[in-house]
Order: sequence, then structure tokens, then C-alpha cells
Amino acid sequence: MPTKVNIVRTIGDLRALVAHWRKAGEVIALVPTMGALHEGHLALVRKARENASRVIVSIFVNPTQFAAHEDFGAYPRQTESDTEKVEQVGGHLIYAPKEEEMYPPDFSTNIIVGGVSEGLCGLTRPHFFSGVATIVTKLFLQVMPDVAVLGEKDYQQLLVVRQLVRDLNIPVQILGSPIIREEDGLAWSSRNAYLNAQERTKAPLIHSTISSIAREIAGGLRINSALKTGRSQLEAAGFIVEYLEVRDSNNLSSVCELGDDSARVFVAARLCRTRLIDNVAI
Ligand code: AMP
Repeated sequence: MPTKVNIVRTIGDLRALVAHWRKAGEVIALVPTMGALHEGHLALVRKARENASRVIVSIFVNPTQFAAHEDFGAYPRQTESDTEKVEQVGGHLIYAPKEEEMYPPDFSTNIIVGGVSEGLCGLTRPHFFSGVATIVTKLFLQVMPDVAVLGEKDYQQLLVVRQLVRDLNIPVQILGSPIIREEDGLAWSSRNAYLNAQERTKAPLIHSTISSIAREIAGGLRINSALKTGRSQLEAAGFIVEYLEVRDSNNLSSVCELGDDSARVFVAARLCRTRLIDNVAI
């Protein structure tokens, strides 16, 4: 029988519970999410369980990482079914603070991470990583976890959080977790719910395209040629490509020729109103 998962909504209640666990010598993991949990999130919870004795899943649709024209209002919110899912994979607590708890009316601090946050999603969503860095810092300071687990699905975000933790000397170990995909290759995402039936059949092309780009480059094809063909394929299928690039896996610097350092193919593309991102290692 899975243990019952509690939900706390205030920083005070969260801290009281964490203090109790700390006193008992528990190792605490945090899995930060925006909810509408799917198999990708649940894999993070499982990994957190392997690395800690208490797992907290935070659920907060963070307004500061959405621009005014983006989908903050439409973003799926389903805490009840999320709670059941967390319970089934053995998480211990959901932390779902209200917006006023995280951002009181006089809130006026913003964390900006340079370097890794600047290209890719940072170009098309200039507000995004400062919103992420600010909320993740707040969550780390509220929970003070030993370990935090983040997905490689948002690979740039993972590197931004690693940088933030190094730069601000936040004592938490960051663990990355591989991308979990549906059977046809589409990476699980809360935003997949926006896809209509026709878009859903097209969506796996994102993964198959970047996978063949990665294979072609590994086989010796020039990076630019592989990217050009891939972009044409996606555009012909009706995607609006925001970026399709090869970057160094450690620092996201541009890669024009494959060298000794590991590299990945990164893509962001829209199908009508749905923005999808994905990446694969070469
Ligand atoms: P989100 O709720 O979309 O903000 O994501 C919360 C965490 O889950 C982030 O660390 C994501 O990278 C991770 N995540 C989302 N989708 C997947 C997936 N398909 N595979 C692995 N991790 C994922």
C-alpha cells in the first residue's frame, strides 16, 4: 500500500515538517515541477527515492517564467490527480504554495544567470531563465534539500540550475535524469495536452528528426548540412522552427565541427500554438 501523501501550502508548514525529518536524520530530495504530472516527472520522483529517504515534489505554476503572451492562464492544473501519482511512486510530500506565498505584493528580487542561459530558449523567451532561477532559488532556500532531481528534457534549464547552485554556493546536489518518451518517441510534456489529434500524430517527428541528425553527424556528415535537412523536414511537416542547433553538452557553446567534447542536438519548434522542445546526445 502506498503511503498517504500530505500537501502543504505554506513555507511555515513546510519548514516545520522538514525540521522534523532532519531531526530524525532523513536525507531529503526535492523534485521541482509545475504539476500536471506525467511519466517524465514520475521518473524524477523514482530517482529521488533512490537517492533520499524523503521526497518532496513541489507543484507551482510559476508566473515569473511566463511572458504576458504565453500560456500561464491555460497551463494545466490538477493537484488532485497529481497527488495520487506521487503517492503511487512513493513520494512523501507535495509542496504546493499559493502565488501570494511565493510572490507577496512587494516582491522585488530577480536572479539572473549569465552564460548558459543566453542562447537557445534564452533568445526566444528572454524572461524565462530569470523566472526559473528565482523560483528554484526560493524553493531551495525554503526546503533546503540534500538533493534535487531535474530532467534532461529541459537540458538548458538543468545547466542553468547547476550554474546557479555553484555560483551561489547553495548546498544541494543536482541530479540530472534522462528524458522519458512516449512509445512513438515524443518526450512527455505537460504541454502535449494542448495538441489536437492531427498535431499529436505529427509531434514525434521532432524526436525522429533530431535523432537522425545526431546519427548523420556521428557518421561524419557536416553539422550544417545535417541541420539544414532536418530543418526543411520539420518545416515541410508544418512546424515553425524556433531553433535547431548543435551545442556542447557541458557549457552549451556552439559546435560547428564534432570534436572530442560531447555534443547534443537541441530543438524548439511550434505546432500551431504548442511549443515543443527536445534534445538528444550525438
Ligand atoms: P515542468 O513541470 O515541465 O516544469 O518539469 C519539471 C521537471 O520535470 C523538470 O526538471 C523537467 O526537466 C522534468 N521533465 C519534464 N518532462 C520530462 C520528461 N519527458 N523526461 C524527463 N524529465 C522531464
